[in-house]
Amino acid sequence: MVGAGGLGSPAAFYLAGAGVGVIGTLQATEAIKCAVGRGQLLTDRLLTYDALSMRFRTVTVQRQADCPLCGANPTIVDVHHG
Ligand SMILES: [Zn+2]
Repeated sequence: MVGAGGLGSPAAFYLAGAGVGVIGTLQATEAIKCAVGRGQLLTDRLLTYDALSMRFRTVTVQRQADCPLCGANPTIVDVHHG
């Protein structure tokens, strides 16, 4: 949609920036929880955020045993892999 709240509008630009801030804050919270060993991490769940409706949703996801990143025998073990 192009218009007052559509893609390419100033409103969408500002919402995208604010959304990055919201998700960044949530990621920082997860990192702190992990570092201090407190709380329940967002492990094996996917969090979605809809800024327009201000709704968060979590979906449980299953790990795949053959995943190169988080599977039983990961082959991607650092950011320089490749
Ligand atoms: Zn994985």
